[in-house]
Amino acid sequence: MWTVTERRVAGARVLHRRGPMVVVALLWTLLACFVVGLGRHGDGFEPLVDGWLGSLTTVLPAALLVATSRTRTGPERRELLLLGVGSLAWSAGGVYVVLVSAQGATPPFPSWGDFAFLCFPPLVFASVALRVRRELRGFQASVWLDSALGALGAAAALAVVLGPLVSGATGGPVVVAVAAAYPLADLLLVATVVGVAVAYGLRPGGSWIWILVGLLVFATSDVVYALRVAHDTYALGTPVDAGWSLGLTLLATGAARRTSAQAAVRPHSQERVALAVPALATVTALVILVLGRWEPISPVATVLAGLTLVAAAVRTQIAFRQLTRMFDLGQQARTDSLTGLGNRRMLHEHLATRLATDEPLAVLLVDLDHFKEINDTLGHHVGDELLRQLGPRLTPALREGDLLVRLGGDEFAVVVGLGPFDVPEAVAERLLERLVEPFHLDGVTLRMSASIGLTLAPEQAADTNGLLQRADVAMYAAKAAGGGVRRYDPARDQHSRERLRTIEELRDALDADELVLHYQPQCDVAGGGVVGLEALVRWQHPRRGLLYPDSFLPLVEQTGLMGALTSKVLDGAVAQCAAWRASGLDVGVSVNVSASSLLDQALPDRVSAVLARHGLPASALTLELTESTLMADPETGVETLSRLKSLGVWLSIDDYGTGYCSLSYLQRLPVDELKLDRAFLVDVGRSRNAEIVRSTIDLAHALELRLVAEGVEDEASLDLLRRLGCDTAQGFHLARPMPAEQVSCWLRDRSTGRPVRWPVAGATG
Ligand code: C2E
Ligand code: CA
Ligand code: CA
Repeated sequence: MWTVTERRVAGARVLHRRGPMVVVALLWTLLACFVVGLGRHGDGFEPLVDGWLGSLTTVLPAALLVATSRTRTGPERRELLLLGVGSLAWSAGGVYVVLVSAQGATPPFPSWGDFAFLCFPPLVFASVALRVRRELRGFQASVWLDSALGALGAAAALAVVLGPLVSGATGGPVVVAVAAAYPLADLLLVATVVGVAVAYGLRPGGSWIWILVGLLVFATSDVVYALRVAHDTYALGTPVDAGWSLGLTLLATGAARRTSAQAAVRPHSQERVALAVPALATVTALVILVLGRWEPISPVATVLAGLTLVAAAVRTQIAFRQLTRMFDLGQQARTDSLTGLGNRRMLHEHLATRLATDEPLAVLLVDLDHFKEINDTLGHHVGDELLRQLGPRLTPALREGDLLVRLGGDEFAVVVGLGPFDVPEAVAERLLERLVEPFHLDGVTLRMSASIGLTLAPEQAADTNGLLQRADVAMYAAKAAGGGVRRYDPARDQHSRERLRTIEELRDALDADELVLHYQPQCDVAGGGVVGLEALVRWQHPRRGLLYPDSFLPLVEQTGLMGALTSKVLDGAVAQCAAWRASGLDVGVSVNVSASSLLDQALPDRVSAVLARHGLPASALTLELTESTLMADPETGVETLSRLKSLGVWLSIDDYGTGYCSLSYLQRLPVDELKLDRAFLVDVGRSRNAEIVRSTIDLAHALELRLVAEGVEDEASLDLLRRLGCDTAQGFHLARPMPAEQVSCWLRDRSTGRPVRWPVAGATG
């Protein structure tokens, strides 16, 4: 049996849930009565319709707004209260007018009623602005600017219509001010509505629709009323009188509906809006200004149109800066900083495009002979100078459209298109001839030679890795023969047999637990504390020893074993992290997720199952995805990411800066972290890279993302990152990747304050 108190509490709970909707139904019924009453209205003031119904249909919605605010908590309560108080003020003004009219009089102008009416727009604006700021926190300046642009453009257009009302009033200063305040208040309301709609990508969800439509109806009633009064066509008791009641009822209905968390999702159609809104606002402003040459237009409209153009100019400037920054970042990642030639990434991209056309190609791998001796005996600066001269020397031997890049060290790659009568070896010989001419370096004259391996596409391989690997085999054959040119010879290549064997071994390795994880700490740049550990896979090969991911991951991907590997790594890393936490080490773990794994729809379920199995909170897991992973299939990518995000795991964009993630795409992603590729940390103290690191940190912070810098190899880089405000650092200077047991000791030594020497002796990586 229930006690009375229990029953009362249960009843209150039901009322709490259902109550507002019952009141809402009552409001709409009253409103319907009011409209019907207005339809049958005669001349003059009718107490039941204009008095009672008119007052109730504004006071009750306002009261419901205030009451609803009391059922909410935190910022939502404050926002609703502002809306409620504004509406209450407006309805109080209405009641005052009704009371005066009931006595057959007209209120003086201005009266207390006017001040009550005029409280509404600023309070509404404050309420809406607070909510938008809360829901769209962390959005880029461009979103706010688009919103402001839309608001200004709409206000400018309306100001043209209302202009005469702003400047037309006559009388004392108070009379003129109050008369002008009404149209300005409407401008504010309309600007607010348009601004919010634009900020949400023209697709505001949930309770926003009710509120925005309510405000629009409200402002429209105001404008229609003002215009009729100005033209002396206003009569009491037409349906126009119900406009304000309808507006307030819409507001109260919207507020009474619970906002779902969904309302805070990021605006998806932002990109399209980003293009359309500035254009539309600019055109509107221009039309107004041009029109002003023939028609008298109010100063308010002119000023608003001017402001719209200024905002549009700023918007264009920002868009341009973002584009330039993206371009620089992309360009830098494809350039070799020593020679100014392209790098391995450039080669990959170039080959990918050319292979797609099926054009016959030759890929040449050029390796200088005896370069190490030059470096050792004449010094690195001479070696570097030689490498720098190589580009200008070799390029004239190539044809338009062909590519020369530096792969690293003294290794260069060349891609040439082959015409029907071209002999690939002849191209290689031309390159060798150009090397024979002496190089003048720092007072010494050198003659160079090289070993060149060449392979043909699509005959011998049709993918970049395959081509490079075959060219490499051929180049070693050339080296072994004492230099010159060699074409790849499959018959002599042990590789294909070795490859088949490796694939077999790989399958076994996954079952036999030969894959092991090493962990590399990520440290807080400012405080030095360990914030997480990145799990990096290694293969403990029974014959070949410890293998690094570069040497087997491509094969894993090609043989379709990546899903299995990701599951293994995920399980191992989550288990290890749970073990660390159980032993009192408060750390998180990051796991790399490949493209194929991200496209696997089952990934979110698998992640959630693994977390549950080991009892690890989702917030202790970060998944790292590369830009190219996401760009492989942007739509599926976004969807899977959202599902992962809703589990509560952290998402990170790995190798940032090396792909083509557009800013607007990035903005749509529910990610928490950018990991700046380690290419940008090379020579960071001395090159333009510092500028890139700085602007990427700024960008990350503008998007409210954490920035992790990878490849921190010395104290100078760490110091620079500290000054630039980078959040997290990872790199050999802090610690190399190491086996789990070693990490435990390393973490303990740090937390007990025992000094740890970096890099950790004996660690692998
Ligand atoms: P990544 O995700 O960019 O991982 C960081 C790599 O940078 C690691 O190489 C790490 O040893 C290396 N590194 C860290 N600090 C420094 C430094 O100061 N200087 C330099 N030069 N290098 C540093 P690792 O372990 O060889 O891994 C290579 C790549 O293999 C990783 O790049 C990642 O893309 C992939 N990978 C590793 N483990 C997994 C895995 O479990 N799953 C998947 N899908 N990919 C993995
Ligand atoms: Ca990574
Ligand atoms: Ca990385």
